Amino acid sequence: MLFKELEIIEPILQALKTEGYTQPTPIQEQSIPIILKRKDLLGCAQTGTGKTAAFAIPMLQILDAEKKAAPNNRTVKALILTPTRELAIQIDESFAAYGRHLKISHKVIFGGVPQYSQVQALKAGVDILIATPGRLLDLVNQGFVDLRHLKLFVLDEADRMLDMGFINDVKKIIKIIPEKRQTLFFSATMPQEIQLLSKTILTNPEKV
Ligand code: AMP
Repeated sequence: MLFKELEIIEPILQALKTEGYTQPTPIQEQSIPIILKRKDLLGCAQTGTGKTAAFAIPMLQILDAEKKAAPNNRTVKALILTPTRELAIQIDESFAAYGRHLKISHKVIFGGVPQYSQVQALKAGVDILIATPGRLLDLVNQGFVDLRHLKLFVLDEADRMLDMGFINDVKKIIKIIPEKRQTLFFSATMPQEIQLLSKTILTNPEKV
C-alpha cells in the first residue's frame, strides 16, 4: 500500500517523502480513509504505531480544503487533547512536518510554563490547537481561547488522561465544544471508565 492510494493530496505526499515514510503503517492505512470520510473513530493504539500521523495527515487534508473555501476564517477548527507536555510538543512537530507545504497554522499549549507567549500566539488566530487539558481550561476560562467553532476533536491517550487524573478536565472541555463535530478517540487500553467516556463522545464510530 502506498500513501498515494489513500488519496492524500500532493503537498502532504511530498512532506511524507521528505520524512522518509515509504508506506503507511497498519493504523494509518485503516484510519486515514475513515477520517477523510468525516466519520468518528475509536482507535485502540499505542505510541510507536504511527498513531500521530494516522490522525494528523487526514486532519491537515480536511483543514486545507476548508481553508481554500474560507481563507480568512481565523477560528480554532481542530483541537488535540493529550496528557503530557512531551506528547503535545511531539504532536505539534508532526503537524509542522506533514503540513510543511500547507498554510495551516498550529500552536501548542501546556502547563508548567508562563502563559504569556501562549496567549500572544493565540491572539494571532490558529487553525489547530494541541493542548494539555489543565492549561487549556485555564486559557478558556480567561477568555483567551474560543472553542465554539471547533469541527475536529481528538482525544489522545485517553487511558493516560484517566491515570494522570485529568479526566474531569477533559469532561469539562467536552462540555464546551460543539456537539456537532468529528471526534477521534485514541487509547492504548480500554478500562470501563474509558469505554463509557468513548460512548458519550463518539457518534457511530468506526473501530481500528
Ligand atoms: P507515533 O506512534 O505517532 O508516536 O509514531 C512513532 C514514530 O513512527 C514516529 O517517530 C514517526 O515519525 C514514525 N512514523 C510514523 N508513520 C510512519 C511511516 N508511515 N513510516 C515510517 N515512520 C513512521
